[in-house]
Amino acid sequence: MTKPVILTGLRANNNLTIGNYFGGMLPLIDMAQSKASEYQINMFIPDLHSFTTPIDHTSLYDQIFHTAKVFAAAGLPLDDERINMYRQSYIPAHSELTWILDCFTGFGEMSRMTQFKDKSGNIGTDRTTVGLFNYPVLMAADILLYGAKYIPVGDDQTQHLEFTRDIAERLNTRFGELFVIPESVKKQHEFFGKDQGLRIMDLADPTKKMSKSDNSGKGVIYLSDAPEVAAKKIMSATTDDKALVKFNPTSQPGISNLIEILALLKGEPVSVTAGRYEGETKYGVFKQAVAHEVQAFLTDFQSKLSAVSDDDVASALERSEATMATQASLRLLAVQKAVGLRPRTQVE
Ligand code: AMP
Repeated sequence: MTKPVILTGLRANNNLTIGNYFGGMLPLIDMAQSKASEYQINMFIPDLHSFTTPIDHTSLYDQIFHTAKVFAAAGLPLDDERINMYRQSYIPAHSELTWILDCFTGFGEMSRMTQFKDKSGNIGTDRTTVGLFNYPVLMAADILLYGAKYIPVGDDQTQHLEFTRDIAERLNTRFGELFVIPESVKKQHEFFGKDQGLRIMDLADPTKKMSKSDNSGKGVIYLSDAPEVAAKKIMSATTDDKALVKFNPTSQPGISNLIEILALLKGEPVSVTAGRYEGETKYGVFKQAVAHEVQAFLTDFQSKLSAVSDDDVASALERSEATMATQASLRLLAVQKAVGLRPRTQVE
């Protein structure tokens, strides 16, 4: 019996922050490991999605490979055959199914996608590509090719998941049971558990989320920061004039953010970390402790990253890509037969 599929995208990104690490990567890796006995885990790098808006193509290939290495350094096992890490563009069925689905997708239906409206509004008509418009159809193909039931979707993707369900039902109604219908957004949330809502804030402006797109980089700790530079960023983090180390994100956002970061680095609940500094009035002492942990964490992470072998990553990717290509081409052939592109008698 084949296992139900959980599918998630690992976005290629050269500027990962500790926010991405603790809020995105670690929860995904934990999820993959805890569910791998019951589910097939598909973790793919959506490389075709990465240039729906203009990018620097000279670094794309390396960036994609680097992303796979970063996940390995963060603990994603490369040798676990139940966990498939693969690059979307290495499996041509993604593009081929997209075209077929395109021809059953309404122009109006895509035009209503709020993410498209937002992004194209920001970029302007001249720079908006058909790829950006079409991207939810590619996302539907990513999901439907493997019969994925569960996909952890952020709020910005809920409309695209609904579209995936709609297009799958549309083709199933017309051609018979071609696709597994992914679970509804509500069921996805029930399955993956409520988002714990972790938000690491910017060190310079603790009222906004720490984000890779921050221009100055002063309030952001990147996984690639030199450890002593990151420590300095902590020492100059914005605090307040209350002279009390206390966890209260509303009245003391800067200090509370540092407590949160320290708790994550130590792997302990915020209440325990906060309790340890109860009554501490010298921010310098507290910041030193956080800076020390950040420095140690980055030193350790960067040495793990440099120990990840390119050959191991390449062979893990190739192994998964071969398995996934077999699965995807079976589903694609069923669709090709249904729409009349292949003889119905062709052996799978
Ligand atoms: P983004 O880089 O904004 O596309 O986010 C990718 C993933 O990293 C998502 O799961 C986010 O929730 C997580 N993430 C990004 N920034 C932060 C942050 N400052 N705090 C917590 N999680 C974050």
